[in-house]
Amino acid sequence: MLGLPGFRVLDVHESPTELVIEIETIAELVGCPGCGVVARAHGRTAVEYRDLAAFGRPARLVWGKRRWRCEEPRCEEITWTESSPAFSARCVLTNRAGAECCRQVGRNARPVTQMAAELGVCWDTVMDAVREHGEPLVDDPERVGQVTALGVDETSWLTATKDHPTLFATGLVDLQAKVVIDVIRGNSATDLGSWLDRQPPEWLAGVRVVATDLAESYRAGLDGRLDHAIRVADPFHVVRLGNRCLDQVRRRVQNQTLGHRGRKKDPLYRIRKLMLTGTERLEGPGLERMLLGLRLGDPDQEVLGAWLAKESVRDVYLADDPADAELLLDKTIEGCRADPVPEVGSLGRTLGRWRTEILNHHTTGASNGPTEGLNLLIKKVKRAGHGFRSFANYRLRILLHAGGVNWPAQRPPAPRIRTRSPR
Ligand SMILES: [Zn+2]
Repeated sequence: MLGLPGFRVLDVHESPTELVIEIETIAELVGCPGCGVVARAHGRTAVEYRDLAAFGRPARLVWGKRRWRCEEPRCEEITWTESSPAFSARCVLTNRAGAECCRQVGRNARPVTQMAAELGVCWDTVMDAVREHGEPLVDDPERVGQVTALGVDETSWLTATKDHPTLFATGLVDLQAKVVIDVIRGNSATDLGSWLDRQPPEWLAGVRVVATDLAESYRAGLDGRLDHAIRVADPFHVVRLGNRCLDQVRRRVQNQTLGHRGRKKDPLYRIRKLMLTGTERLEGPGLERMLLGLRLGDPDQEVLGAWLAKESVRDVYLADDPADAELLLDKTIEGCRADPVPEVGSLGRTLGRWRTEILNHHTTGASNGPTEGLNLLIKKVKRAGHGFRSFANYRLRILLHAGGVNWPAQRPPAPRIRTRSPR
């Protein structure tokens, strides 16, 4: 019943809060680890461990650990306490309970507090077990093989408080296997560069495509390290750039014409979501409503201009043919640069700086699309963690959850008990 080979159950008693199981080893004849002479029993000490919950209650194992003594006078081993591979000397959890903590917190992104309450141990005990069982899985060289398409994406680690600004991290993703390779602290060129410097040259040589958002810091971090790889500007971020430009212009015009930030009844505020919707998804009445809002709230047609700019950025991705995309992008860049609205002009200049990378999407098909999906997984880990103070824990839990870890096989699946069919 215990499922621990080499042990027997002496007694089981229960309380409303837990199940207490007294156990001992079955070893009767033990040799001294120093000299091999048969050892003599030398009393017992009761040591308590937490095991997996049994029958709906946390289980406490009380192991009457034997002490042994060597009878050989010249031997240096005088006395010792027995041990078992099922128990760790440093941890109050049995190894199988520790492995389960790692699976629940790591693979299933469950909060540590939840596991701690379920087992009846403290937070640090659970987190120690996650580290003990999880770190080897994350460090396993088999976890990430050769990557041909690398995604680099910024993610926030800690949101701003009164003591520090928002702290960022950089996620590195295998775009083909859709797993997080690593998470590094910071989002600067040096942060990315020093990570790349730590990778084996032959691994870097195998990377064919790198997709990033439009951050100059990442471009600088890649320079000189992945020059052979094709750089791609991630479409999602390019389109978002157009959306942000439109939002900026709308807010400024709103402020200039009405003297305050957007309110529920303001014409531009009311159409803010309609304007961000792609034209192909805008139906007749929606389009009418948007144009009416623009006539009412946009006297100098600045917002209209930004809307057209945003649409022309999106059009680049509607074209399948690389030559068409190039033509559309060049028209967009030219049009935006010539635009007297400062925000639109700035959009044009940014697009111009990333022209090659934007067009590379059409020739390689690469995008950080998978990364955006992984960002959702990262958010799940962050919610479970309620903010991480330790970057090492943050990284470990993201990699356990989304890093393509080879989880050790549990026991084989139990035979199924059929549902009783209704009469
Ligand atoms: Zn001995």
